[in-house]
Amino acid sequence: MPSPDCIFCKIVRGEIPSKKVYEDEHILAFEDLNPQGPTHVLVIPKKHIAGLKEASLDDAEVVGRCHLAAAQIARDRNIENGYRTVLNVGPQAGQSVFHLHVHLIGGRQLSWPPG
Ligand code: 5GP
Ligand code: ZN
Repeated sequence: MPSPDCIFCKIVRGEIPSKKVYEDEHILAFEDLNPQGPTHVLVIPKKHIAGLKEASLDDAEVVGRCHLAAAQIARDRNIENGYRTVLNVGPQAGQSVFHLHVHLIGGRQLSWPPG
């Protein structure tokens, strides 16, 4: 179900502007407002899913599509030497927007483990 107050649902509906990177009938990718690297793209299902822990088996394909789109964007941007795809799950992990999103971060040296 679409969520009227969800900011990423608003981005999907075009009610909040975004710098689109990729779109198809299932997913949308756009530039993060507060980039943490030269590439920082968010890839989201168009369907409202609150986060990974709320996803069900029915969502398996779209979650996979988000990751594969991130890999394609990384290929297109020539950052395949090293990038990270990240889902923050829950407030303690830093999840602040409760619409599932894959962060694609790259274009710089990334340290491990993340903070
Ligand atoms: P989280 O902290 O939930 O894992 O990630 C949420 C991300 O969404 C953050 O990196 C934040 O910068 C980004 N963000 C929050 N609001 C907006 C917005 O309105 N537009 C865009 N493009 N990014 C946003
Ligand atoms: Zn949403």
